[in-house]
Amino acid sequence: MATFKNIQSLGALEGKRVLVRADLNVPMKADHEGDMTVTDDTRIRSVAPTLKALSEQGAKVIVMSHFGRPKGQTVPEMSLEPLGQPLANITGLPVLFINDCIGAEVAETIDGMENGAVLLLENVRFYPGEEDNDPEFARALAQNGDVFVNDAFSCCHRAHASTEGIAHLLPSAAGLALEAELKALENALGNPQHPVAAVVGGAKVSTKLDVLTHLVEKVDHLIIGGGMANTFLAAQGVDVGKSLCEHDLADTARDILARAEAAGCTVHLPTDVVVAKEFKAHADNRTVALDDVAQNEMILDVGPASVAKLAEQLKSCKTLIWNGPMGAFEIEPFDAATVTLAKAAGALTEAGSLLSVAGGGDTVAALNHAGVAEQFSHISTAGGAFLEWMEGKELPGVKVLKQ
Ligand code: ADP
Ligand code: MG
Repeated sequence: MATFKNIQSLGALEGKRVLVRADLNVPMKADHEGDMTVTDDTRIRSVAPTLKALSEQGAKVIVMSHFGRPKGQTVPEMSLEPLGQPLANITGLPVLFINDCIGAEVAETIDGMENGAVLLLENVRFYPGEEDNDPEFARALAQNGDVFVNDAFSCCHRAHASTEGIAHLLPSAAGLALEAELKALENALGNPQHPVAAVVGGAKVSTKLDVLTHLVEKVDHLIIGGGMANTFLAAQGVDVGKSLCEHDLADTARDILARAEAAGCTVHLPTDVVVAKEFKAHADNRTVALDDVAQNEMILDVGPASVAKLAEQLKSCKTLIWNGPMGAFEIEPFDAATVTLAKAAGALTEAGSLLSVAGGGDTVAALNHAGVAEQFSHISTAGGAFLEWMEGKELPGVKVLKQ
């Protein structure tokens, strides 16, 4: 079982220059005075404990991040400068900013830092070497530090200079948030307690093919919901009317079902569904059996009988991993299956019988909407990195931190 170097493995850090890769690529919008403000500070909050711990140990804390997609050029609108103040507010530490991430001026500023101080560097993607993982650029970044700490799981699926390249050049470790995330993911899919259930939902099979093929080999129960369930149902001969459905993936869907059967994984597809003629909130709707979907109707949610069976099934499971909503959860009442199943999973987790890990952009929104975010064992906000991990891929930024 893989273990990862953590901050303790770096030894005493008093007076050391510690380069921390954070993900400060947070959503922002202009306020009424035209200043940029952060609209979701989750990622800043997640790196704060690491920054505080390093500062308390007397390290010179130097923070690197990307912001947006400046494509290797200096784009003033994508400067990290506006993130200095939110970072200071959340960590409770003063944060200095410098308008570059490599070079002599940066080195001088770092030389002048007090132990325990925090310095935020400018957007690493202002240099093309970042995304190219150019060894020269990685070396230039590495000059800023004595050791490297990666605390940005959401960036670990990219082999970039500030995530992967630099870790070959300096003693490196996972920060507190990354360490916690890796432990949770390991417990959920790497080395989980069985039976394991996976909920995979969302819009399309095509975006999650690799997830499905990996999971059928790993889990005992695969629960398929959302738009992608329609593709599986149609592949089995169900008339899904005008539902969102990838009819061209019928063979693929049947192949996944065959692989599941061969691997001893039970696939759960809905047996009743909620249909409507329009994709909008409070559209007229009815709950029907699979053979009763009309030509002008679409399936927008898993039906209550199916959800009740699934919630019952979860009681016998020890581990749950969840990506993708069960229905069109943004529009009521088609959030019902997602909310009911999420609440069941949250309650089982709180009762101690289930370890529950979830991730994905819309999944996080859906679980927040269901009010269960605090109950789940771990919710990953990592998006792309979380999905690649669910596909069984080794993330380059994580691999390089292996012991
Ligand atoms: P995530 O971002 O968590 O990986 P996805 O992006 O794959 O999830 O899927 C989320 C989207 O799937 C939501 O916008 C939701 O409305 C949509 N969706 C779920 N079920 C259905 C359905 N039956 N018909 C149409 N859209 C659906
Ligand atoms: Mg999405």
